[in-house]
Amino acid sequence: MSRTLDQFKARFGASGDIRLSRAPGRVNLIGEHTDYNGGFVLPLAIDRSVDIIFRPRGDGKVRLWSVLYEREETFELGRIEKSDDQPWTNYVKGVAVALREEGVRPGGMDALISGAVPLGAGLSSSAAFEVAAAQAFIQCAGVEIEPERLARLCQRAENEFVGVKCGIMDQFVSIFGRRGAAVLIDCMDLSHELVPLDDRAVSILICNTMVRHELGSSQYNIRRRQCETAAREMARHKPGAKLLRDFTWDEFEQWGGELSTTLRMRARHVIGENRRVGQAVQSLRRGDYEAVGARMNESHASLQSDYEVSCIELDVMSAEARKLPGVYGARMTGGGFGGCAVALARAGTEADVASALSQRYEEATGIKPEIYACRPAEGARVEPAT
Ligand code: ADP
Ligand code: MG
Repeated sequence: MSRTLDQFKARFGASGDIRLSRAPGRVNLIGEHTDYNGGFVLPLAIDRSVDIIFRPRGDGKVRLWSVLYEREETFELGRIEKSDDQPWTNYVKGVAVALREEGVRPGGMDALISGAVPLGAGLSSSAAFEVAAAQAFIQCAGVEIEPERLARLCQRAENEFVGVKCGIMDQFVSIFGRRGAAVLIDCMDLSHELVPLDDRAVSILICNTMVRHELGSSQYNIRRRQCETAAREMARHKPGAKLLRDFTWDEFEQWGGELSTTLRMRARHVIGENRRVGQAVQSLRRGDYEAVGARMNESHASLQSDYEVSCIELDVMSAEARKLPGVYGARMTGGGFGGCAVALARAGTEADVASALSQRYEEATGIKPEIYACRPAEGARVEPAT
């Protein structure tokens, strides 16, 4: 941290109260494309974060420096406009707008942004960035906001200002994540519980395919609409049901046959995935990692053939991971069409798995992946910058 603090001081001066707002990225163990259907997810915050070193300023201006892009941007809180030229600034601006809509006047600041969450890899650097920015703004304003409200307003910033229709999972776990645990979230009402993940027993490997296919965001919006339609059609049998979450697996088996082929596939994934999350949580609590791995493998198969959001690189990565000794299961994680897979492995095997998997993935695709073990980490916080 001291190197970025030096950069901050060189750029913005060394005086005053300099603080650090950190928010972690996340990886989702199981429960994919369920959040916007009001379903269940089981993510964990990872030990890689977006870091904003900041100091409040009293003139309502926000001066940003991105270490990554080596660009500066200054804007006034009273006059916020979306930037096409420097899209990274929109995450901060969107959060400022969302705070104002909540009746909170964000405080001005000098801010230096750095971080170790890989961008666009499905580890949700965008949510981490929003949460880190929101924490900095509210500290500068000298107010407090309940964590759940904070998560929702960050999501709104991304949905409305940035224009990406993400669910609530990423912002939520970036705030509520805890060391040594995954977070089971019911996306219907945001009730949640911690599920211990003992890192002396298991290791979580993030396997970045290093590809990102353009289809992602357009297909995401199409899937959301298909799910809404499927839920509406099935609701003929169950008045009051609004989201796919409102249907059990038995109900799907009864009524799913009336849906068109595509809608049936989408609904089968979402409703089946919700059931798999519940099963995986029970298995985790028993320490039955073989069973957790099996659910992860089923989740991948379902995302691949029913939800159709995987790609060849994610399929190769997951399939090769499963073949390696010590690996309980592997699946794509995040929205799909590239990004990362996640593997659950016996603790102690991670180095061997990472090197063998790197080699096999590169042989099959010609692309060098990035594979690393991560630990379930604490959620976002502000601390003195040292
Ligand atoms: P993901 O959330 O999967 O990482 P997104 O496309 O949703 O991918 O968000 C990535 C965007 O977030 C980047 O293009 C950039 O604009 C912004 N971003 C994330 N982390 C940083 C960072 N450390 N510095 C500057 N911008 C960042
Ligand atoms: Mg994102």
